[in-house]
Amino acid sequence: MKPETPKPIQLKNYSAPAYRIDTVDLDVSLHPTRTRVLATLKLRPSPDAAKPGGPLVLDGEMMELGSVALDGTVLEAGSYRVTADTLTLPRVPDRAFTLTTETFCNPDTNASLSGLYRSREIYTTQCEAEGFRRITYYLDRPDVLATFTTRIEADVESAPVLLGNGNLVKHGRAGRGRHFAIWHDPHPKPAYLFALVGGKLAAHRDTFTTMSGRKVDLAIYVEPGKEDRCGWAMDALKRSMKWDEERFGREYDLDVFNIVAVSDFNMGAMENKGLNIFNDRLVLANPQTATDANYADIERVIAHEYFHNWTGNRITCRDWFQLCLKEGLTVYRDQEFSADTRSRTVQRIHDVRQLKARQFPEDAGPLAHPVRPSSYIEINNFYTATVYEKGAELVRMIATLLGRETFRKGMDLYFERHDGEAATVEQFLQCFADVSGHDLKSFMNWYNQAGTPELVCALKYDSRAKTATLEVEQIHGASPGASKKSPVPIPIKIGLIGANGQELPLRLANGRELPDGVLEMTKRSEKWTFRDIPSRPVASLLRGFSAPVNLTMSTTDRQLEFLVTHDTDAFNRWQAAQDYAMRIMIAAVRALRKGQRPARPDGFVGALATLLNDTTLEPAYLAQVLAVPSESDVARVIGRDVDPALIHRARRWLRKAIGVQLGDRLVEIYESTVRIKTFKPDAKSAGERALRIAALSLLAARGNPDDIARAARHFREARNATDEIGALAILANLPGPERTEALDRFYKRWKDDHLVIRTWFGFQAAAPLSTTLRTVKQLTTHPLFSMRNPNSVYGLIGTFASSNPLQFNRPDGKGYDFVAARILELDKFNPQVAARLLGAFRSWRNLEIGRRRMALRSLQNIASTPGLSNDVQEIVSKILD
Ligand SMILES: [Zn+2]
Repeated sequence: MKPETPKPIQLKNYSAPAYRIDTVDLDVSLHPTRTRVLATLKLRPSPDAAKPGGPLVLDGEMMELGSVALDGTVLEAGSYRVTADTLTLPRVPDRAFTLTTETFCNPDTNASLSGLYRSREIYTTQCEAEGFRRITYYLDRPDVLATFTTRIEADVESAPVLLGNGNLVKHGRAGRGRHFAIWHDPHPKPAYLFALVGGKLAAHRDTFTTMSGRKVDLAIYVEPGKEDRCGWAMDALKRSMKWDEERFGREYDLDVFNIVAVSDFNMGAMENKGLNIFNDRLVLANPQTATDANYADIERVIAHEYFHNWTGNRITCRDWFQLCLKEGLTVYRDQEFSADTRSRTVQRIHDVRQLKARQFPEDAGPLAHPVRPSSYIEINNFYTATVYEKGAELVRMIATLLGRETFRKGMDLYFERHDGEAATVEQFLQCFADVSGHDLKSFMNWYNQAGTPELVCALKYDSRAKTATLEVEQIHGASPGASKKSPVPIPIKIGLIGANGQELPLRLANGRELPDGVLEMTKRSEKWTFRDIPSRPVASLLRGFSAPVNLTMSTTDRQLEFLVTHDTDAFNRWQAAQDYAMRIMIAAVRALRKGQRPARPDGFVGALATLLNDTTLEPAYLAQVLAVPSESDVARVIGRDVDPALIHRARRWLRKAIGVQLGDRLVEIYESTVRIKTFKPDAKSAGERALRIAALSLLAARGNPDDIARAARHFREARNATDEIGALAILANLPGPERTEALDRFYKRWKDDHLVIRTWFGFQAAAPLSTTLRTVKQLTTHPLFSMRNPNSVYGLIGTFASSNPLQFNRPDGKGYDFVAARILELDKFNPQVAARLLGAFRSWRNLEIGRRRMALRSLQNIASTPGLSNDVQEIVSKILD
């Protein structure tokens, strides 16, 4: 019970710690219900403390304290104080001293998956953000960096493998069926990067030789029997190590690099120093069990966690407000890795889709917060799309403004200047200002202001002067707690396209040329005049999505068609097709609301046909072109009085129209795309499979019996997970015998594989059918479903709440009631996952009045429940605010 609202923690109140910890010696004796931790900390008063001296207050929770000793002398109980979350020593020496504590914790009952816990018999840890305090008493904050030595002891029988951070120093027998391993990490680190693992694990091994010729032993540890599913992850790891050397000059710094895959994990993966711990869905892959999307995710996340070794571990965050310093930057790095590895344009489309689907609604609603927030109650609530994905966009804008070479110089300086430190966003930006001479002070506004700016653009053409003038205004709407905002610097990458589709040279009135096409906007409104423009051009704005903004410009259907077919920038051709589809669906929603039939989308479909016939475009790109914006995308753009049922109908109508009008061409694409005999996970092969399934899906939307039969055949004859699951996704949305048959067959085939069967739960939860809620409720009692396993919860309940707008937003409110009840159930043992599910309600105010009332009732139900966790309480009060 937490009767009073907890006080937020404020960035402005940051002060350096009064004590530093130089070394940590841990002796961890693993036991399922009573693990003993003996911690020896070498402390000293901090020379840069804001307030030197005073009591030593250590963080600690969910533990039993055995004893406390200062410089070897055991303290009497009266000489320290213990509360539910602290251990305080009122008096400590004014010099270096040693503190030893003995504590006990219970891994088996720890269902929060934070701290030390067991997942399918494997001891594992998760310490970010504040889990280390559940292992021992500590100054659990990122700006306390210490060198760790960890002795781990366990039963040989149940935990033959013992892993820690850094390098293995020693291992051996400890008597009575026990053994031990001692790990030493020479790099000082904050406690959130601590990890240990103990269990029955099998290893997939390899080696990597770094650019200076050092050999590193690599291993991926998984449940025995699954070693053969680690090849792709290992390959991705080696390619990541190489890429970071080539692109950023960063070399790995230990003798070993270990990855462990576990089944019960709150996040995707964790970058603990030298010992990354992964949710097994992001490690295990073979062609039968993992789709191309899974392969791409694995590659991306393996790279992401590896890249943290420099951006996060070697240079860490001063405090949790700076979380974007490691996350936004590392997401940018993993996006660049994927772009270099795959198709840059397709990768960018993928990243922008994600950003708009996940981050834009967050930024437009009650959970909006700056990339660097200024206050929080529960830090676990800030592992958000804003910190990660918008954070990455901010780094990308710096790279765009400075150019690739100068950006690299800034990164080099950052690594050189702050290695081994806990840094801030200001220090990061200063490095780029120093190498470029570019004033980046106003760039901090991007980090400090929430909300997606709107960019209102107009292009005026003067036929006598032969000039075109681009007028741009940036508009910042209010965000929670922030009505007045300052302008931000915006890189606007543009092109002007002449009547014949030729790219016009960009020459400003003052004669300056823009070879890279990037304008830098710094004021609230600005205009640029281009000269020598022979006839009225069409503007291609925000190429490559050069800034995370909403672009507003009045364009005719004709101009959009022209951009879809003529823009020389492939990203913007895709964007124009998306904008066009969006415009048509919004008009269709309007017509349907009035009981009218939507107008035929001939211009749009004609433009699509032109793209499909363009043989220079790669299949992966065409697959992206054929994927019209999602129902949630349409809801986001409509913004108010949203009726999810009308949006569903409008989108289904448009997809059917594409299927009908382009049917022959789609059949041709489906038939002609090579059926690859042996599966290869590379981007090109994946693109071919994606295009084929996109065609199959639009044909099924047409709804002829032949089309359904084709999808059912595709499912039955599938030789890999991409084809099998791709076809299942189509069939699962259509009521009928093909659906039942496919789901049954899939279940029988995969019921023993907890990763693959997750998709079976997911497709049933995502089906836009009126029976879905009933099915989902039944599935929560299925023997393969567990509320204690986050993958299970996200796969079923999360998919229903976030990927099924039609059924989650049922007009009778029962979708909301169901999800709200599950959130309350989860909150009792895993508040992080409960709070995350609650995010599905973030856009409730945009709904039409009937649904809004229903959602409000469910949210109030949650809010009025006694004993909520900080996590859920913070989110629900913001959503209702
Ligand atoms: Zn990360």
